[in-house]
Amino acid sequence: MGRVFNFSAGPATLPEPVLEIAQKELLDFKGTGMSVMEISHRSAAFTEVIEKAEADLRTLMNIPENYKVLFLQGGASSQFAMVPLNLMTTNKKADYINTGQWSKKAIAEGKRFGSVNVVASSEDKVFNYIPETNRQMFDPAADYVHITSNNTIYGTTYPELPDTGDVPIVADMSSNILGQVYDVSKFGLIYAGAQKNVGPAGMAIVIIREDLIGHAMDIAPVMFNYETHANAGSRYNTPPCFAIYMAGLVFEWLLDLGGVPAMEEVNREKAAWLYDFLDESKIFKSTVEGIHRSIMNVPFVLPNDELNAQFIKEATDAGLTTLKGHRTVGGMRASIYNAMPPEGVKKLVAFMKQFEVNNS
Ligand code: PMP
Repeated sequence: MGRVFNFSAGPATLPEPVLEIAQKELLDFKGTGMSVMEISHRSAAFTEVIEKAEADLRTLMNIPENYKVLFLQGGASSQFAMVPLNLMTTNKKADYINTGQWSKKAIAEGKRFGSVNVVASSEDKVFNYIPETNRQMFDPAADYVHITSNNTIYGTTYPELPDTGDVPIVADMSSNILGQVYDVSKFGLIYAGAQKNVGPAGMAIVIIREDLIGHAMDIAPVMFNYETHANAGSRYNTPPCFAIYMAGLVFEWLLDLGGVPAMEEVNREKAAWLYDFLDESKIFKSTVEGIHRSIMNVPFVLPNDELNAQFIKEATDAGLTTLKGHRTVGGMRASIYNAMPPEGVKKLVAFMKQFEVNNS
């Protein structure tokens, strides 16, 4: 079978040229006679891999010198605990904005370690918007403000970052890291699971301002202390070597394409094709309005469950796969991360148009 267009929310489609390089190098990584999965994480060959990956990520995101980049295990979900264990330590309280299930998980975990104040929430409308905030709503004594920059399930993104004054913003950027330009200096900490825009599952990226390192709670396990990993260049123990290697290839691919600004332009165009059609369609409906729409995850619905099911089946038969929406939203969701080629989105929109003709 040829490759399909895979709209999965994650693990998600990876750039084909990256998969081809990985395939070519699988049995003999750069003349070592071994796979990159079989070499020591302290070998010269792997040292080059991890150092190049970090350098390329720094270039891609324009990461200032006073930030550390960590490649960790445990996915984004471990960060829900690692953030409070390390940062909720001065005044032992933090503000959170609740924009969906992942925010809720972060909030629940935060509550285990200190006082959590939910400043704003969009739960009243099934999280189909980003709640407005202003500086007065945030506690100036909070240790940080936690946001989910892109809500994978509901397809919402912050049109602009909240104004938190001097309180550092901590962002779960799992589903839009490298998909659009962010000014890293506006954040205290950014974290992201890899399996959407970065590479295979098994790794989380953490970008942390240096002054926030070194204040972990005494109860923080060694592996849950940012200082451990910052001091060891992400090699305190065996890191997720293969995931780091793959991420490095994705970073090179993205640099070749012109970096994040160029990618964002393509992403905005891909998303606009879909949203424009959704806005003009008589049977398909977008579940999110205007400025809160994500350019990474696009949920949409048909008038009833039968049509949703028929659409998903016919789309799958046409090579457009994994379009089923999250169970809490229903309908469909097209995840159109960096690695989704424009042709994939074009084909999806053309398919939706034809589906509408056939079913109206
Ligand atoms: N945060 C967001 C925004 C996500 O989309 C996900 C995964 N879908 C997670 C956190 C959890 O990531 P992981 O599975 O890597 O723990």
